[in-house]
Amino acid sequence: MSRVVYVNGSYVPENEGKVSIFDRGFLFADGIYEVTAVINGKLVDYEPHAERLERSLNEISMAWPCSKAELRQMHEELIKRNKLDEGIIYIQVTRGSADRDFKFPKEAKSTLIGFTQVQKLLENPNAPAGVKVVTIPDIRWARRDIKSVMLLAPVLGKQRAYEEGAFEGWMVEDGKVTEGTSSNAYIVKDGKVITRPLSNSILAGCTRRSLFRMAKEEGVVIEERLFTPEEAYAADEAFLTSASNFVLPIVEIDGKRVGGGQPGPVVRKLREIYLDEARRQAGLK
Ligand code: PMP
Repeated sequence: MSRVVYVNGSYVPENEGKVSIFDRGFLFADGIYEVTAVINGKLVDYEPHAERLERSLNEISMAWPCSKAELRQMHEELIKRNKLDEGIIYIQVTRGSADRDFKFPKEAKSTLIGFTQVQKLLENPNAPAGVKVVTIPDIRWARRDIKSVMLLAPVLGKQRAYEEGAFEGWMVEDGKVTEGTSSNAYIVKDGKVITRPLSNSILAGCTRRSLFRMAKEEGVVIEERLFTPEEAYAADEAFLTSASNFVLPIVEIDGKRVGGGQPGPVVRKLREIYLDEARRQAGLK
């Protein structure tokens, strides 16, 4: 069965979902996106994603394409129309379609699209054994706190990681790890979780934010500071977070085994508490 997608107010079969060749998302990457997880047909952690969307839109002076209630309703409707049990929902907002000109168009109405993707989240096939990452240079722009659709650098980074047999690329700038191409990056040393503090250099992950709250409740200490790839090689454990992977163990960095090449106790516990909360929000417990 082909998916039903959302395009500017209409729900249509995916092969009928179309936007103009003059859309500024296509011409200039002048747009924002968001990704939210769905479990048991329920949105997980929706609010932080809606808040981040609002922030991203404000930062690039782009108007909301619809009301907040309508956006939520669109998510719910996509779940219903696609009978989505477990997976993710992507939404993209652009500054609309207009004659090609860098300046903001006066008349254009923003474009809003949404679509679902089936994915196993609770039983993530990569979670039991963990994944490999490789470090790559961070060649992105200076405002990575904005969830922009300008994803060429992450595309090239993820492809390079894939070609090197890794699941994710950890980007490095000035000798320090910033984040993954589509995830936040963490190491664990002596029981403490270490991750880069929020700034314009990384995206403020919604999973990161929820994990911080849960870790605090569980008494897991999080130290927000920069770390080098060398520190990561010598770490006891490593992991990544994202809405589509929740908390995912990393067992190898640049060909060096981390923590004996097995997911360690801290990451296993953090994944478990995250899944617990996701199941609770999804009405599964
Ligand atoms: N950093 C980057 C660059 C990302 O693309 C993502 C995934 N959207 C994240 C971090 C993780 O963010 P979240 O937990 O909100 O999915």
